[in-house]
Amino acid sequence: MKRLFCAVLACLLLSGCGWFEQKADVDFWCMDTFMNVKLWGSGAEKAAGELQTMMNDLHTTWSAANEQSLLGKLNVGMEVALTDEQQAVLDRAQALSRRTGGAFDPKMRAVSRAWGFYNLAYRVPEQADIDAALALEQWDLGAAMKGYAGEKAAAYLEQTGVDRGILSLGGNIQTYGEKPDGTPWQIAIQNPYGEDALGIISVQGTKSVVTSGSYQRCFEANGQFYHHILDPETGYPADSGLVSVTVICDEGMTADALSTALFVMGLEDGVEFWRSSDDFEAVFVTEDGGIYATAGVALSGCSYEVIQ
Ligand code: AMP
Ligand code: MG
Repeated sequence: MKRLFCAVLACLLLSGCGWFEQKADVDFWCMDTFMNVKLWGSGAEKAAGELQTMMNDLHTTWSAANEQSLLGKLNVGMEVALTDEQQAVLDRAQALSRRTGGAFDPKMRAVSRAWGFYNLAYRVPEQADIDAALALEQWDLGAAMKGYAGEKAAAYLEQTGVDRGILSLGGNIQTYGEKPDGTPWQIAIQNPYGEDALGIISVQGTKSVVTSGSYQRCFEANGQFYHHILDPETGYPADSGLVSVTVICDEGMTADALSTALFVMGLEDGVEFWRSSDDFEAVFVTEDGGIYATAGVALSGCSYEVIQ
């Protein structure tokens, strides 16, 4: 009995030291992208399973490509009884659109579709098709939903025994909690011109780090480069001089919407927007290879200009 007690005590002590800490490391495909969930702490496996279900449910509800989804129904004018959460998401999307002067536009579905970004049947549409698509104003939260998913995942983890985790949701990273040794999470941002990392961003605690890049979905036609981040004013791929924008923010949905919006705005307007805001930091990469990080970003592994 005494020996058993000693063994249990040893286990408890070791688990307190992190040696026997529960871990989960789960890969899956959702929202048309590869996702990975890494969690540490009590009930990690169960929580990872719950998060996978959460991601699938969000996709079912919010995929603009699916006619049976909430957005699919709204886009054909169906009357839908919204839950409080759904209403809040739509309200936040519209508020983010107003905040960014329309650079983030949650109603670009028909325009994305005209360019073939939905079914990867890329084409350059006629001007008349773009005009008609802009007029349709169909919901598409593809520029904000993975960020919202990260934010919702972090809120869920608060209610579990999980101490910390890191979620990779396509181009979006959501951290949760502090690393036990107190060192920051290290997040690589992709080099838009290669497979390697452009640099490493350090963040502490629960944060969302989201990158929008023209390299993420693009095609060439008649010697021209076209990509999926569209300027809502023209209906054409944003020609802002940027190749990627990374946003670091407490709120995932805001991070995601702002990364898209800043890409559309370009460096100069994006910097002005940052100066008039107090809830995010950003890294801008320009077409000529320049890297610009706002003053609050802890960026290493590359040379860059700090924006004050
Ligand atoms: P992200 O990768 O977060 O920048 O989101 C890009 C996706 O959002 C595109 O594939 C489109 O589905 C949609 N989208 C494109 N342009 C915009 C825009 N200006 N505002 C909001 N959503 C957009
Ligand atoms: Mg986005």
